[in-house]
Amino acid sequence: MSYVNEVIERITKENPGEDEFHQTLNEVYSSIEVAVEQNEAQYRKDALLERLANPERQIKFRVPWVDDEGQVQVNTGYRVQFNSAIGPYKGGLRFHPSVNIGIIKFLGFEQIFKNALTGLPIGGGKGGSNFDPKGKSDREIMSFCQSFMNELYRHIGQDQDVPAGDIGVGGREIGYLYGQYKRITKQYEGVLTGKGLTFGGSLARTEATGYGLLYFADEMLKANNETFEGKTVTVSGSGNVAIYAIEKAHQLGAKVVTASDSTGWVYDPEGIDVALLKDIKEVRRLRMSDYAAERPSAEYHEGRGVWSVEADIALPCATQNEVTIDDAKDIVSNNYIALAEGANMPTTLEATKYLQDNGILFGPAKAANAGGVAVSALEMSQNSERLSWTFEEVDNKLHAIMQNIFKQLDETSKKYEQDKDYVAGANIAGFEKVVDAMQSQGIV
Ligand code: NDP
Repeated sequence: MSYVNEVIERITKENPGEDEFHQTLNEVYSSIEVAVEQNEAQYRKDALLERLANPERQIKFRVPWVDDEGQVQVNTGYRVQFNSAIGPYKGGLRFHPSVNIGIIKFLGFEQIFKNALTGLPIGGGKGGSNFDPKGKSDREIMSFCQSFMNELYRHIGQDQDVPAGDIGVGGREIGYLYGQYKRITKQYEGVLTGKGLTFGGSLARTEATGYGLLYFADEMLKANNETFEGKTVTVSGSGNVAIYAIEKAHQLGAKVVTASDSTGWVYDPEGIDVALLKDIKEVRRLRMSDYAAERPSAEYHEGRGVWSVEADIALPCATQNEVTIDDAKDIVSNNYIALAEGANMPTTLEATKYLQDNGILFGPAKAANAGGVAVSALEMSQNSERLSWTFEEVDNKLHAIMQNIFKQLDETSKKYEQDKDYVAGANIAGFEKVVDAMQSQGIV
């Protein structure tokens, strides 16, 4: 058995029940095999793949809080500090009832390679809780965030581990978390990113993942003699990533005709009205059914269905495994030209393979959605300098970072004779950087 397969088997066996982590381990390690083969004896001797797949540290803790009825609730908190070879751990916090250690490890593992691709000095980590923010009052959210930070604070720091947002964690939650960190530690430091603009946040952080996705996809299209101009685009999700992906797609001359949440989706043939979407989701915190009720051109559908719509480019921006093999078949039969992942691992392994085998340009999450963490790292730089850059400065840097990420993928896929396999390009390019740093630092 090859070294890669031996390690996949061993790590899977040693970490039972962590399905999403097994899935990403399989995807990443299978696609780097061609690079591993060139140094197999050394990597095996150094147990490099085993070390890379084992987090440096994983923390699990109790989060008790009191709801508006006076009832004590208990949730579980996690922080997985996966790899610090190239910088302090960096990665978001997810608050969603589905969160478990397998999901946090999948996200943390992906984050190692994603962060390496940005070219910025950040290691990989991820955290969160099975807390469900939906339907909670502001006071309940604050109570939960404060309790979560009462434990998390001892494990993080501006040069140690710098969390950010993810599903269910936006500006409001980061504000409450930051306030509690400051209260406990007396430190006013860049320990979290995605902060409000009046207390150390960076301009363009809110837009960064969605805009970055479009900058990346635009490069991928251009390298294949296509552009966004005049194209029809389908987007899933209606959160932070989806909203700003839609906004930038429109700025690039495309028309986005769908958006969704976990209850249903809308088809809006006149193009999603971004101002209305922002008002519904960011201000009034309502559902896509409310968008449809207020927008005469939109049709509302319960459940899933975004990928059955005819279009040219698909941008899944909701959650993991939302593009299944059946969706991939629809995408191919509807003659799409490209799919770029805004969410983390939104496409199943089977669907990814089907899309690639059928000539769909495929932009993998760890490259395509790296804009968020890239601007988070720029927020860290601004905090260290105690300066704030303009929106334009940050946006220009983001654009250059995303162009450079695509260039690395393109060159790496060519170097290993896997031209246009951007999944392999992303995994190998990220792997080579992290492994170089790990080997230079000895057996730690
Ligand atoms: P938000 O919480 O802002 O939005 C998530 C969106 O996805 C909502 O529309 C939500 O609907 C929908 N969604 C969540 N879970 C499900 C589900 N199980 N089924 C169907 N729809 C679902 O999160 P973000 O926009 O920040 O994150 C979206 C994705 O992008 C995630 O995969 C995240 O890891 C990834 N990502 C985010 C980054 C960031 O900077 N924010 C950076 C890089 C990646 P509902 O409101 O009904 O729950």
